[in-house]
Amino acid sequence: ELFVMNYISTRGGVKGKKTSAYVIKQGLADDGGLYVPEQIPALSEVEMCALSKMNYIQKASYILGLFLTDYTEEELNSAAAAAYGSRKFPSLPVGLSQVNGDFILELWHGPTSAFKDMALQIMPHLLSLALKKTGEDKNALILVATSGDTGKAALEGYADADRVSIQVFYPIEGVSGIQKKQMACQRGKNVMVTAIKGNFDDAQSGVKEIFADRDTEALLSEKGLFLSSANSINWGRLAPQIVYYISAYCELMRLKRIKYGDLVNVTVPTGNFGNILACYIAKKMGVPIGKIICASNSNNVLTDFLNTGVYDKRRTFYTTISPSMDILISSNLERLLFMTAGAKRCSSYMKNLSEKGFFEVDNDVIEVIRADICGFYCGEENTKSTIASYFNKYNYLPDTHTAVALFCAGEYKKKSGDDSVMLIASTASPYKFAPAVLTSLGAAGQENDFEAIRKLNEISGIKIPTRLAALESKKPRFNTVIEKSDMKREVLRFASEQSKS
Ligand SMILES: *Cc1c(COP(=O)(O)O)cnc(C)c1O
Repeated sequence: ELFVMNYISTRGGVKGKKTSAYVIKQGLADDGGLYVPEQIPALSEVEMCALSKMNYIQKASYILGLFLTDYTEEELNSAAAAAYGSRKFPSLPVGLSQVNGDFILELWHGPTSAFKDMALQIMPHLLSLALKKTGEDKNALILVATSGDTGKAALEGYADADRVSIQVFYPIEGVSGIQKKQMACQRGKNVMVTAIKGNFDDAQSGVKEIFADRDTEALLSEKGLFLSSANSINWGRLAPQIVYYISAYCELMRLKRIKYGDLVNVTVPTGNFGNILACYIAKKMGVPIGKIICASNSNNVLTDFLNTGVYDKRRTFYTTISPSMDILISSNLERLLFMTAGAKRCSSYMKNLSEKGFFEVDNDVIEVIRADICGFYCGEENTKSTIASYFNKYNYLPDTHTAVALFCAGEYKKKSGDDSVMLIASTASPYKFAPAVLTSLGAAGQENDFEAIRKLNEISGIKIPTRLAALESKKPRFNTVIEKSDMKREVLRFASEQSKS
């Protein structure tokens, strides 16, 4: 018989069975929770061996098929081929580099040089299909709050997509100059980019408020639009990320670095907890993953949570050289809490977080979490010295986010003595954060972002991603800056523009 995967809310307040097409269209659940699959499909050794002989597109459509059971095989195949084909990615979409005995999983060889391409190149195809499958007559307006990389990757994924418009809000002080320019130059007639005065959490909570606002919903509905999300709160964003962890394990098998069953530890530079949650789900599917190391920067709210069981966002917010990890509310942690504590306790934790600014999980919950995940953090000085030492010792140049993960992987090994194979997720090209990388190498002068890219190229000899090199001479198209209190008005303005076209 045909197995159907249903989706439920982390807060337990959504009645009825929801399909994957429905939850991808919907984004957030109506009770404020996040959608999760009702069960985690298992991957057997036989399947893993079969997967290790497939290319990335085949792996992606097979693995997505386990979760998105209401999509046909042909639909998933063609979505994966459009997303990960040669127009977008190299023939091996995710690279594995061996450095100092560890394996670095380079997730940033897509069109915007950020790991978010891995999900955001395929998600628009999944959403367009979802509109058709659910018989939706309105078009989707995607709202995105970004700390940098998501915004550009989402804009690029959704530009000129069928029946979808996209509006991106980013914190004016929270993203790099290159990220700003990438977003400001976005092509496409269905896109809008707006800077807000505030930090990432302001942008994210502004977007969340708009999603929860019934007046806005009614006004948009009159214009033939409904809101949807591309943030990693959307299951359609998260599911494709599971693929590369499974693929990496298969690749290590294929290269005979491990045999099936050998435990591989994974370190993930973490912000909103999406990437690491995908790794956790891969582990729960049965992929032989040992410990998952949650790497944070100075905004180490997750490190403290994993050490104490108390999640407390009432703390100083630091703007760091790894801005995509400058986050105090890691939305996808809610999915982990649901998976380990159940809907009832998860809801009460989330209620405490929004009302009091903190929550404490029960002992049994933190113990279950700690069996799989441990937390380390890396401050600014250690981030810089890690970049310098990897370049000087191993001739490997990590970006600022990857450097945080490399440092934390080392801390974990020192503390645990665990010498299993270590896989480290690398989330951005060093060129996307060229000024900070140059500073770390002690080579920064007065150069602007693009001069920094050229100088970094002279020092490292690493090829500059083509699209980044071409960005300098482009003319910015978007330059709006607004107060965070004006976000709703800005959404309605853009919606009017889009409903006319
Ligand atoms: C988004 C991002 C992260 C954090 O990923 P999450 O899924 O939000 O935890 C880390 N590094 C870079 C470069 C990113 O763009």
